[in-house]
Amino acid sequence: MGYRIDTKCIHGEQGVVGNHSYGAVSLPIYQTATFAHPRIGESTGYDYSRQSNPTRTELEETMSALEGAADTVACSSGMAAIGLCMELLEQGSHVICSEDLYGGSVRMFQAIGEQRGITFSYVDTSDADQVEQSVRENTSALYIETPSNPTMKVTDFFQMKEIANRHNLVLIADNTFLTPYFQNPLALGADIVIHSGTKYLGGHNDTLAGFLCVNSPELAEKVRFLYKTVGCSLSPFDSFLTVRGIKTLAVRVEKQQENAIFLAKWLKSQKKVKEVYYVGLPDHPGYEVNKRQARGFGSMISFRTDSEQTARQVLKRVKLISYAESLGGVESLITYPMLQIHGDLAPEVRQHLGITEDFLRMSVGIENVQDLAADLEQAFA
Ligand SMILES: *Cc1c(COP(=O)(O)O)cnc(C)c1O
Repeated sequence: MGYRIDTKCIHGEQGVVGNHSYGAVSLPIYQTATFAHPRIGESTGYDYSRQSNPTRTELEETMSALEGAADTVACSSGMAAIGLCMELLEQGSHVICSEDLYGGSVRMFQAIGEQRGITFSYVDTSDADQVEQSVRENTSALYIETPSNPTMKVTDFFQMKEIANRHNLVLIADNTFLTPYFQNPLALGADIVIHSGTKYLGGHNDTLAGFLCVNSPELAEKVRFLYKTVGCSLSPFDSFLTVRGIKTLAVRVEKQQENAIFLAKWLKSQKKVKEVYYVGLPDHPGYEVNKRQARGFGSMISFRTDSEQTARQVLKRVKLISYAESLGGVESLITYPMLQIHGDLAPEVRQHLGITEDFLRMSVGIENVQDLAADLEQAFA
């Protein structure tokens, strides 16, 4: 029997840790650009670090173990992984996306994808009928995030897989928010999983990383070819940091979730909070679907305050919680989606998505939850 997921975080599928030189328990950092060949026509298995590097290989194998993937490539950032994924799309093809995708993904699709003759439709993928109605003759892929960013809408993998099968679409899921600890899109029918490893996987707000995990050797071959061609590889040192981060993924995200459940309920009881968006609240519209397909709710909370003034005041007054972009690390962060992540969206699109002046997004860390609540309380006062 294979290891359970919390063990895999530390040891990979079959104990990758066991193979280090000299019995080193910690992963050696092979800080080398190139590898000497033993003889003509022979290789140690490694030739050049853009293509592959032993430190990065351990990270990739760990991620494949966690996501149940045929193969994983580790990229220099989440956006590098998304850019690589876009290279798989053919000119003239059409992609259906969740309408509240990570802002950087939308920027990439608009600034680069459209220039290359790819068209994108942004729809509410929590509504399968909208997805079905958006399928065109040249639709080739369905690109989702669940829960979505920042309004935490939940998309049903089962329904998306049905649509993808019917129309022969590649199903791509950005699994950054729930991580493989809570959700495994490949097991739910996705062909490709994307991660920003900068977030929960790295977990310490100290490095950028990204992953593309694929479900078949055929896709792996295509992705590996593009990977060595475009050169978006993760450095040996950042690979080490990310492996080190993943070792504690299970305990971090459990604690973060416990804190988030407490804070979501606490926020609901606050006079200056009008609405709380957290997938772990039973009255969240996506609660049941998320429960069916995931093992947890994560620790991202968005909330609407009573006014723009309150939202700005909270950002100004928080002390323990940092007013900063990004998410998923041990430090709690709060951000203003209207100005940051979704700053590039047209005002009417932001309005439609509910990303307004009174709207804040919080990434809950592993601090003592009473201290977090106290920080918010003094910020609201
Ligand atoms: C941060 C993020 C990305 C981009 O990742 P980077 O590592 O910042 O390049 C993509 N998708 C989601 C959901 C993210 O949160």
